[in-house]
Amino acid sequence: MNTLACPEAIDTQDPKKFAPVIPKLRQRLFSDRTYRIGSENAFRIAPQIRELELQGHKVIKCNLGEPDFPLAKHIADEIKRQIDLGLTHYCDPQGILPLRAAIARMISRTRKLDVSPERVVVFPGGKPAIGLTQQTYCDPGDEVIYPSPGYPIYESFTGYVRAKPVPLHVREEAGFSFSGRELAPLITDRTRVIILNFPSNPTGGVATREQLEEIADVIYAKAPDCARIYSDEIYEDILFDGNRHQSIASVPGMAERTIIAGGVSKSFGWTGGRVGWAVYPTTEEAAVFKNLNINYFSCVSAYNQMGAAVALESPSSAEAISRMCDAFSERRDVMVAGLNSIPGIRCREPGGAFYLFPNIAGVCEKLGALQAYSKMPAGDRERSSPSTLVQMFLLWRYQVATMDRRSFGSIGSEGQHYLRVSIATALDDLKIGLERIRNAVTDVNGFQDFIKEGKHLC
Ligand code: PLP
Repeated sequence: MNTLACPEAIDTQDPKKFAPVIPKLRQRLFSDRTYRIGSENAFRIAPQIRELELQGHKVIKCNLGEPDFPLAKHIADEIKRQIDLGLTHYCDPQGILPLRAAIARMISRTRKLDVSPERVVVFPGGKPAIGLTQQTYCDPGDEVIYPSPGYPIYESFTGYVRAKPVPLHVREEAGFSFSGRELAPLITDRTRVIILNFPSNPTGGVATREQLEEIADVIYAKAPDCARIYSDEIYEDILFDGNRHQSIASVPGMAERTIIAGGVSKSFGWTGGRVGWAVYPTTEEAAVFKNLNINYFSCVSAYNQMGAAVALESPSSAEAISRMCDAFSERRDVMVAGLNSIPGIRCREPGGAFYLFPNIAGVCEKLGALQAYSKMPAGDRERSSPSTLVQMFLLWRYQVATMDRRSFGSIGSEGQHYLRVSIATALDDLKIGLERIRNAVTDVNGFQDFIKEGKHLC
């Protein structure tokens, strides 16, 4: 086995683990905190996919976190119109008023709250508010509770700001959701941020109003007043089976503590627009984030913000979202049934978002991934897992790109064997991917050969 198979060794939550690496490099170039930030593997896997494509392979991309639908014409037309009108200069660092007003109206209507545009801040995408929130509310040693498996950026930033990461492990048996009973023991007087994400990336889990009320009761009773709920609701429009989006901010007593985050990337398939937002409990908090915007990037492009305002307010948007959700729903049904027909895989139906999160413990066992993992050198093991080995085998030998469990929060993920399968890919391609997975999971010799070759093991 090649011990240099896992070359990207610097991202970690625990600087102690990399003590031999840090002093040597720190003296030369980077700050200590640079070694304490993680990453989002969905981006890091792209060069490997490109390499396979350059070799002439057709890769089935079930790794993607973006809808495979074009930006709706009425939104694209508005952006072009605004560019022609000359809206190409600096603008309000908090976000232009027409967009903040549209966000405030949408949140007030859908959450039954009374939100003013002064409490809204616009960011370049849904992502920046996650790190800025931890930076703003946490001193070293303060605690951030976040779902695991969950969007990787939640855990990634805890080390960077020296907060204590407190993963809340959501369980498959509970529909990848959690109850107040599971949250309660994690809350302490150092808790500063509690991250919720429904519908969830990577599991597609959704929460009912009753669940959120129970979670709210626990937060109300146990969390310090200065703790904030960061409710990442970026998948709010992508729901199946008649589910309706529920926000914890609508539960009495919670609006005062909740930051509601969202953006255009998922609802409008507009990941390149880089428009996201957060609604803060107070105008004072919004002002702090406005100042961070001034420091970091000045403002978000005004023409895109005007496009986002149209996206939120035009009646044509609902049709586009509904067409997209119907397509996701059809793909979900085909893929869940297909994955469940493969021995060794168990896949729940997600209630929202566009991801499946099949349990592949049986596959790990059948292929010998557990044993192969246990024989890896300790350093490589820290950056891999049995599901990582299956993920890499699927990619390099069967050209199906998925994401492993570790990519969604690695702390405490040992022994959990899952893959994230995105259904944001055409149904015909998904069907090809399914058959490739079906063949791969019985290819014990191929897997052993892949392990022996020792490349791409993490
Ligand atoms: N929050 C969650 C849960 C996500 O899944 C993503 C993207 O995948 C984001 C935030 C970031 O979205 P954006 O691309 O708008 O930065």
